[in-house]
Amino acid sequence: MTIFCVDDSSTIRMLVKKALEPEGYTVLEAENGKEALSHKDIAGADLFLVDVNMPQMNGFELVKNIKQDTRLSSKPVIFLTTESALEKKNEGKDLGGAGWIVKPFEPPALIKVIKMFS
Ligand SMILES: [Mg+2]
Repeated sequence: MTIFCVDDSSTIRMLVKKALEPEGYTVLEAENGKEALSHKDIAGADLFLVDVNMPQMNGFELVKNIKQDTRLSSKPVIFLTTESALEKKNEGKDLGGAGWIVKPFEPPALIKVIKMFS
């Protein structure tokens, strides 16, 4: 299973990789929504792990694009963000987000959520 981690923090991307690769997941990375959408392997992603606040294209804009792309629209999107406000969570849900994890995350909690979709 391939997880596409989109986050402008290289530390978070590294921590996600460190948590998921030993569990057998392949992790693709991008720094923002724009970079994610132009990633050559995007169609091979099975699940998106998406930050909200990113330069160039934020997570909400990225998810709008994912949901409009017939290759990608059925793939689950989980937000991984420092945002914890209910309005933000609801906005993410309305856009089609399947989950919301607040950073910093505990690796076992992340793995547990991802396993719900694998
Ligand atoms: Mg960010």
